[in-house]
This record gives sequence, C-alpha cells and structure tokens, in this order.
Amino acid sequence: MGISAPSVPRVWRERIIKYRLLGSKCADCGKISYPPRKACPRCGSTNLVEISLPKRGKVLSYTVIRTPPRGYLKYSPYIIALIELENGARILAQLTDVDPDEVKSGMVVEAVFRRYREQGEDGIIEYGIKFRPPIT
Ligand SMILES: [Zn+2]
Repeated sequence: MGISAPSVPRVWRERIIKYRLLGSKCADCGKISYPPRKACPRCGSTNLVEISLPKRGKVLSYTVIRTPPRGYLKYSPYIIALIELENGARILAQLTDVDPDEVKSGMVVEAVFRRYREQGEDGIIEYGIKFRPPIT
C-alpha cells in the first residue's frame, strides 16, 4: 500500500468554483431554454446560441419532492421550483439551503454551484446548479 491521493480532495469539493449559468436562446423566435438545448422547444428551430443567464431570479411556484429517485435519498425532501430570472426567462431548478416550509412564491433566489449526488467513498460525484435565498 503506497500513498494514495483521494480521488476527489475535499479542498476541491469545497472550493468556490467560478461558473456561468448557461442556457440557449433561439435565434428565430427568441425563446430561452435552460439547460441549453439542441432544438427550440417552441418553434423546433436548431438555430440556437449559447448564452449566459442572470444568476438571480424569483420563485414563481414550487413542488416539494418527498420520494426522490435512487441516489438522491439523503437529500429528501427536496424542492423543485419554477424560477423567473432577471431577464424574464423561466427555468426549473432545485432549491437548496431552505426548508420546504420557508419557500414562498415571489422569494428572491440566486444560483449556486453545488455537488448534488454522491455514491460511496470514491463514488461518482455530480455537480450542478441549484438556487438558494441570497446571502446578504
Ligand atoms: Zn424558437
């Protein structure tokens, strides 16, 4: 047994990661999608460009998921919200750092980059965008 480095060092996990909230915009009808798509869900055009979305928005409506799919059990319950971003685009995203009881329609939220799934010691870790109430 030699010295083995952990596959994903904690420092890396906890580091603040610079990121952009990426979406796509249809060059034909202007529809904004998140996550980015290959084809426009409104008009079917494939003439889409990648854009950076604003990281702030407000909750329009939300659903509390109390029976999550396998691999997400330790995050149960979690909240999926319809969020209107500052540019008017509407996206679905998971909320974090907030109790289901505390979520309200109209509350302001901001995007954060978070680990959202982990399997075992050396398991697969996925990262993704979640939204939370802004820390002020
Ligand atoms: Zn379109």
